[in-house]
Amino acid sequence: MNDYIHKLKEHNLKVTPQRLGILSIIQKSGHISIEELYVAVRRDFSTISLATLYKNINFMVEVNLLKEVKIPNGKSKYEIVKEEHSHMICKKCSKLEDLELSLQSVVQTASKKSGYLFDDNALVLSGICPQCQ
Ligand SMILES: [Zn+2]
Ligand SMILES: [Zn+2]
Repeated sequence: MNDYIHKLKEHNLKVTPQRLGILSIIQKSGHISIEELYVAVRRDFSTISLATLYKNINFMVEVNLLKEVKIPNGKSKYEIVKEEHSHMICKKCSKLEDLELSLQSVVQTASKKSGYLFDDNALVLSGICPQCQ
């Protein structure tokens, strides 16, 4: 938690109980959508509005404290920024998990072939998880 206090301060964001509460919920759940987060946050901060939550999340994405994981055909999830990684999502239970996989060689090949300079190489693989198979 001290880490977050430091990071918030570093980016001139006020350290509020709400922001710390939001961060700790996201950390505990790993990946969470705004809607799920809203339900969880309201248990501790019953007066928080969805608009305030969005504003806080957007701030924290801007300062690179949180990362948005865009889900194909689904709602974005948010996670605490850590080392770059990919994701896999189960089509049956909608579980989202981290996938430690280096895309460096794929991105390099794609860049060579197309001439593009890629700055976003987020990968979300979808399928059926072992539990749902
Ligand atoms: Zn599943
Ligand atoms: Zn992740």
